Amino acid sequence: MNKASKPNPFTSISDIATINACIQCGTCSGSCPLSDQMDHAPRELFALIREGEYDMALKSNTPWFCVSCYACMVRCPKEIPVTDLMYAFKEIITRKRTAPKNQKMPDMYRAFSRIIKAKGRITESYVMALYGVKHPLDALKNIPLAVKMILRKRLEPKALSVSDPESFARLFELTEKSEDKA
Ligand code: SF4
Ligand code: SF4
Repeated sequence: MNKASKPNPFTSISDIATINACIQCGTCSGSCPLSDQMDHAPRELFALIREGEYDMALKSNTPWFCVSCYACMVRCPKEIPVTDLMYAFKEIITRKRTAPKNQKMPDMYRAFSRIIKAKGRITESYVMALYGVKHPLDALKNIPLAVKMILRKRLEPKALSVSDPESFARLFELTEKSEDKA
């Protein structure tokens, strides 16, 4: 299968077509405070996707270094929503499990969405516990802080929930199904 005929894994992103308007001026990359840490600066990432280099784009660490400062987005002469696209890339990469091996954020995202799906509300202590299953050393390091926060009533130890979590879970599943079809 040549590059051009590979299915584009990014088509479900609502703003993805905007990258076709990118003139590759590099203003976004030049404005980005984290571009030196990224495998591909934002301009290069868009070029990869336009060239059909999807595997490279899916494995790039770029979205994970984005700190949502919006410097790229406010300066882009073509008004491409660079920051929003970074969020959307993170979502796709998390679902496809293609993030670099040393990248822990997808596990945090998955823990967050599992709790929301089950309860309709976030309980930070539960998110951290789920994340801790994957990253026990991180969890151990954070236990003293968690205890302090619980004692000061800044962290909820009991699971919070909406009144009808089953209906919420069904809504969540319907949304996921419609996104998978897109
Ligand atoms: S600033 Fe906008 S037009 Fe220029 S390279 Fe970045 S995304 Fe493309
Ligand atoms: S929003 Fe993200 S990609 Fe854009 S300049 Fe800031 S860190 Fe870089």
